[in-house]
Amino acid sequence: MTASPAGAPTGPAFDILPLAPEVLANLRQLGYERMTPIQAASLPLALAGQDLIAQAKTGSGKTASFGLPLLANLNARRFAVQALVLCPTRELAEQVAQEIRRLARSEENIKVITLCGGAAIRTQITSLEHGAHVIVGTPGRVLDHLSRQTLALDALNTLVLDEADRMLDMGFADDMAAVIGHCPKQRQTLLFSATFPDDVAKLAGRYLREPKQVKLTEQHAAATIRQRFYEVAEDQRLHAVGLLLNHYRPVSTLAFCNTKQQCRDLVAVLRAQGLSALELHGDLEQRDRDQVLVQFANRSCSVLVATDVAARGLDIAQLEAVINVDISPEPEVHVHRIGRTGRAGEAGWAFSLASLDEMGRVGRIDELQGRESEWHALSELVPTSAEPLHPPMATLQILGGRKEKIRAGDVLGALTKDHGFTATQIGKIDINDFSTYVAVERGIAKDALRKLNAGKVKGKTVKARAL
Ligand code: ADP
Ligand code: MG
Repeated sequence: MTASPAGAPTGPAFDILPLAPEVLANLRQLGYERMTPIQAASLPLALAGQDLIAQAKTGSGKTASFGLPLLANLNARRFAVQALVLCPTRELAEQVAQEIRRLARSEENIKVITLCGGAAIRTQITSLEHGAHVIVGTPGRVLDHLSRQTLALDALNTLVLDEADRMLDMGFADDMAAVIGHCPKQRQTLLFSATFPDDVAKLAGRYLREPKQVKLTEQHAAATIRQRFYEVAEDQRLHAVGLLLNHYRPVSTLAFCNTKQQCRDLVAVLRAQGLSALELHGDLEQRDRDQVLVQFANRSCSVLVATDVAARGLDIAQLEAVINVDISPEPEVHVHRIGRTGRAGEAGWAFSLASLDEMGRVGRIDELQGRESEWHALSELVPTSAEPLHPPMATLQILGGRKEKIRAGDVLGALTKDHGFTATQIGKIDINDFSTYVAVERGIAKDALRKLNAGKVKGKTVKARAL
């Protein structure tokens, strides 16, 4: 899931960089006029050939920060793998590959291949046989190809470790080390990470050469994020989330727990209170994960409950509130969590529930943020409406997607022209290979479902169901 970074970037223009005129023209076509802060900080160094450790949050424009340098290092006429980007998940690898392809449009025929687990290895071997310039993949599968000798990295000149902290969290340390062992010593290495714990520092120390460090201290917090802390006893914690929701009534809330078990328990408690909550956890199949994200992003689910690992890389445009159900032991993680709200100049809420045991953690957060946290009492959290909190939209799933050549216009047309709904009653339409998800106002969901099943989309009858 991608979205533009907070508002239009206001940094320096790209044309101050040593980039070819066609590359600059392509950037303009992509709507890249000015650099984001991480691009402004890292591109001059990376384009000069420096190794880099860059720390920045999701949605800050990291892909171009390494994509442009790796393309600059690459000779399109040389048919060999010259750049490798390691990513933690298939979803992120696909996103990165797509963005690199866009950035590479100005040069003819730069081939970018993704190598991730979960996809057929045979197909990947066939694509590799046809040759590639850039590989984007997960450490395990890339190593698999190196071991089978279906991939060689002798001509590599750029290595990128994207979301390094998450790759380590996911237990990829050994696979990464083995993959790096196959890379030439003479190369440029760029490491990107949202947080910078000790194990990432160690990784950088081992594999980077005199790296320059670029860190964007997150200043979003003070300006647009209103933070409130509530002291809770352990047995009040999960219940307090419902109190917050019914008091502040945010449309979309991301709730962070420290453990999967806590996530599961919270979803159960919220549902028992009649609230709509979904859990995002690492064990979800890609298809189920997509479905959860679609429902949350199109505003048909009020609360998404996740651990830090599961939520990494998520970029959701409109998020009214973040709730720290547990306080993270790492203050940087806390700052990263709350940075998800208050985007694009909109104010956002960040609520944190802390037990006495967690006061030390809150102290470290205060220290990192350079200010004292603001405390409120749970007793202030009275319901502010007699209506229970419901999401404004509901999601209908149409069985049939890109493979059936369904387009958003077809679905919108069926609902508005054929069935008489107004365009304002229809929300986001997401289409993937086999399914189409359309958000409609909750009040018309039943009616719209019935009409979709009785009518046609693109001249064909379709099957639809409510999620
Ligand atoms: P990150 O990897 O830091 O999460 P991405 O590289 O995926 O962020 O960028 C987030 C979104 O912002 C993408 O849709 C990308 O196309 C867009 N974007 C990045 N840099 C710029 C820029 N300078 N101007 C306009 N849009 C940008
Ligand atoms: Mg990214």
